[in-house]
Amino acid sequence: MTPDVQFVVLGAGGLGCPALLGLRAGGARRVVVVDHDRVERSNLHRQVLYDLGDVGAPKAEVAAATLRRAGLEAVAHPIKLTPEAFGPWLSGFEPDAIIVECTDSPALKFACNDACVAQRRRLVLGAALGLRGHAIAVAPGSACYRCVFETPPPEALTPSCAEAGVLGSAVGVTGFFLAHLACALAQGQALEAVGRLYELSLGSGIIRTIGGRPRSGCRCRAVHPTESPVSTTAVFT
Ligand SMILES: [Zn+2]
Repeated sequence: MTPDVQFVVLGAGGLGCPALLGLRAGGARRVVVVDHDRVERSNLHRQVLYDLGDVGAPKAEVAAATLRRAGLEAVAHPIKLTPEAFGPWLSGFEPDAIIVECTDSPALKFACNDACVAQRRRLVLGAALGLRGHAIAVAPGSACYRCVFETPPPEALTPSCAEAGVLGSAVGVTGFFLAHLACALAQGQALEAVGRLYELSLGSGIIRTIGGRPRSGCRCRAVHPTESPVSTTAVFT
């Protein structure tokens, strides 16, 4: 069983639903579900915590209620997160909470990374599009998301799921993988995985990792200056 850690899951959509189910499978007991959106009929197939009876209801409330029926202590935060207000909002959670970032906003992912690094929090972050997914676990002193991707991509280069298409099962694999990393972090069993970006190429079946050590010049080095930096971003293994 996972120790009595608070998991804060940002986003309860295509990625967040399987992540929440994965946390349940991993033995999580306390979960906070954050999402401002409402359940829509059009994406029920990949948002696997909801059914037709939930259409129109707040996702966070429905997801938390479902988890409570499974015996978890689950709290809903049906609020809209913004990159600007993210850091102060995050500081209200328990210092050893594990943040699981499952939104579809690149700007929010970078804001979340920066806030978790600054507040020395443990973070799991991921995304999926088409047949590809990626995931990274970050802990104090490790490489962070910006060590791999320095800045968010331009909006013109970040198509939405609706524009680019996404296979629900690929999002499901990525979401469950995020939950696996979060549970491993909670149990202190993710030391080899921390700071590495996992690229899941679900069409070819290839999984590769990028990075592993803090990048020289990344802003996380100012917070965690004691470790030896590496000069290159990508190390393929
Ligand atoms: Zn970094």
